[in-house]
Amino acid sequence: MTSRQTTEHLDRDHFEALVIGSGFGGAVAACRLAQAGIDVAIIERGRRWRPGDFPRDLSRLEKGWLWMCDHGLYDALPLNDILAVRAAGYGGGSLVYANVAMRAPAEVFDDRWPEPYSRRTLDPYYDLAAHMLDVRPVPADPNTGELPPKTRLMARAAERLGHADGFFHPNLAVTFADEGPDQTNRFQVPQRGCTFCGECDIGCNVGAKNTLDLNYLALAERHGASVGVRTEAVHVARAGDGYRVRLREHGHPDGSVERDVTARYVFLCAGALGSTELLLRSRDQYGTLPDLPATLGSRYSGNGDFLSFGHGLREPFVPDSGPTITTASLIRSSAANREHWFVLEDGGFSEHLVKLVRTLHLSRLPQQVARLVGEGTQRVLAATRGVAARLDQEPGDTAVLLAMGRDRADGRVSLTGAKHRLRVTWDVTRNDALYTEEQAVSGAVVRSFGGQPFTTPTWRLFRQPVTVHNLGGAPMGHTPETGVVDPDGEVFGHPGLYVLDGGALPGATGGNPSLTIAAVAERCIEIAVRRITNNPGWTAPERAEVVRGVVPEDAAVEAVSARGSQVSPAHGLRFRETLSGDVRLPTLDGGARSRRLTLRLTVHIPDLSVFRDDPVHAAQVSGMVEVDGLTTAPAAVRDGRLHLLAAVGDGADRSMDYVLPFIDDEGREWLLQGVKMIGRDHDRNPWRATTRMGVAVTPPDRRFDGTAPTGRATISLVNTVRLLGSVRPAGAPRRRKVTTVLTFGVFFARRVAAAYLRTGRPPQTR
Ligand SMILES: Cc1cc2nc3c(=O)[nH]c(=O)nc-3n(C[C@H](O)[C@H](O)[C@H](O)COP(=O)(O)OP(=O)(O)OC[C@H]3O[C@@H](n4cnc5c(N)ncnc54)[C@H](O)[C@@H]3O)c2cc1C
Repeated sequence: MTSRQTTEHLDRDHFEALVIGSGFGGAVAACRLAQAGIDVAIIERGRRWRPGDFPRDLSRLEKGWLWMCDHGLYDALPLNDILAVRAAGYGGGSLVYANVAMRAPAEVFDDRWPEPYSRRTLDPYYDLAAHMLDVRPVPADPNTGELPPKTRLMARAAERLGHADGFFHPNLAVTFADEGPDQTNRFQVPQRGCTFCGECDIGCNVGAKNTLDLNYLALAERHGASVGVRTEAVHVARAGDGYRVRLREHGHPDGSVERDVTARYVFLCAGALGSTELLLRSRDQYGTLPDLPATLGSRYSGNGDFLSFGHGLREPFVPDSGPTITTASLIRSSAANREHWFVLEDGGFSEHLVKLVRTLHLSRLPQQVARLVGEGTQRVLAATRGVAARLDQEPGDTAVLLAMGRDRADGRVSLTGAKHRLRVTWDVTRNDALYTEEQAVSGAVVRSFGGQPFTTPTWRLFRQPVTVHNLGGAPMGHTPETGVVDPDGEVFGHPGLYVLDGGALPGATGGNPSLTIAAVAERCIEIAVRRITNNPGWTAPERAEVVRGVVPEDAAVEAVSARGSQVSPAHGLRFRETLSGDVRLPTLDGGARSRRLTLRLTVHIPDLSVFRDDPVHAAQVSGMVEVDGLTTAPAAVRDGRLHLLAAVGDGADRSMDYVLPFIDDEGREWLLQGVKMIGRDHDRNPWRATTRMGVAVTPPDRRFDGTAPTGRATISLVNTVRLLGSVRPAGAPRRRKVTTVLTFGVFFARRVAAAYLRTGRPPQTR
């Protein structure tokens, strides 16, 4: 039977406990509740996938690939400031994840975490989760007798770049064939040894990944848990001393069907975004849980994820060999006057994934979905197809790198507009120091392989990070003023309603978070089971069998902490520019009126080397904007961006694109957008082209591509002289100050000259 045909729905309308979502939090919760004899049901919006069922048919997206196309496996959500990727299916993120099971270092549990959380108090639960997931580092590939090529290359790069003491082979939740090709796991579920086919991130058809359905969830079902798949929770309401949950059951012959189920205890485990969304909808859209804490939606984190690539490598990386991730380097730095560390891992992709991405086109999406896709997403789709085409041509010589670190976890999840669309507000600028270093070190690794680094299309086009590690939104705290749930996962003011997934984590874990999510869930569910069963001594039955295995990340933390920063400080620069002009703004009577405009901006390039590698040459912009009619005093530019001499199409022409968000006197958000086009076809005079730009003032969701400006802003001769005099190196040591400024000058002059002399497109990077 294929998963496509599987329709399992709940056969009753009342349970003692209901678990919503079947990822790391949900699987742990359901397993322990069922083992303790509690009548529990699990609902999961995605399908049940069995080894052998995972999609490989590229002919149609409805063949199981995308959640938006008939409830497939992958769910990619462009959420205005970040592209969030997650899975849908029985087993949650474990179905597509890269198997890395990493503990968070002690310093992660800082004052954002409520008492009694610390690495020491969590270690017994880490041990338990690691035992259940049966983790170990990658062994040699049985086909070659050696570690995969990318694993060896990453070790060499760490050596060359001075990261060797923080380099390790992380624990992976994978069954390896050196213990025999056909095996039965410790829960008597048949599995097979890993074939090193590199398909972990599109679902393991071999049955080698220790996904949650093969351990925790299998045990839950064995202890009587009921399961409803393709069953989505819509909202939650109070009902007596418990809760009523509205379910949407997909997969009925007559389409989606809605029904209500009640339970005394409800465990929200729909993932950081899913659980936060469900609570937000219950409070703000349906009004069924009106008293949820005001902190709901806070402390969202993308775990500092930064995805990048490299092509043209001297030696093959072979990204489709071995498990998707096999190595990690812990890197410590003290750039930007802040001590921080991050983890860099090798990534992988299977040939199927590349081919699938190549075919992602609007015409292949169902009409109702395609209609929702805006112009920005279309540009990302087109650029992503371009990247996939390149990967397809030279797959072996392409490196994939994923960095992750402790971002500020200061994002906010909310619902927006009349349609209550999910939105994440994520301030890239505030997290820029981390992203810049991650990009710099990833670039250095690629260059050490003789290749050229490049980033994701969303970063290149919109400076939008991609994250596969969504955390927060319903964080734990000591009071409703500091968190949504208490330290045991129970929602403040809502007895019996819990959040036990990544949403409850109050900060980034810095490394891969799933083991921490599972460990926190193990701790919270132990407390919940003790309360529900009135048995203060209850513990998970497997606790007695647990033996702590190797924890390679701890040795890396120790080694790296013993010495100082491994990243040399970034060399960047700043300059100031002042422009003035006018712009037409709509009037109340439906007409338009010209208004004066003044911009006093500071452009900051934190790391010149990352800036030059970046195809759009992005810089940060702060400063002040004044627009008559909107602002009576200068308004601060919030997280402004400038793409400085990005290539236009395939020719030598260049553009300078400014996006400057500001808030007017009445608290409304605006974007002041400006474009200077550089090249003979746009303006024959290079002086004019670089000092005059077309502008538009628009609402935040409208993009301006320079084609129909409603105003103009110019830098005067005096202000140009001031601009040149304001260029200052930032972060460079004394001996590098002059070279930093000269390097920037050469970068600027070469690109403008090439656009006018048509000497061909200057090199994309250095
Ligand atoms: C490609 C990829 C690779 C990754 N690699 C790693 C890795 O190597 N190591 C690591 O630690 N982490 C990795 N992650 C991240 C990891 O998968 C997540 O951190 C983890 O799965 C989060 O666990 P969770 O319990 O919070 O939620 P999830 O595992 O996301 O589970 C939530 C479940 O709830 C379901 N759901 C959502 N809304 C509803 C609803 N309304 N009704 C019913 N069901 C709902 C979802 O379909 C999903 O199955 C990776 C993620 C991706 C996408």
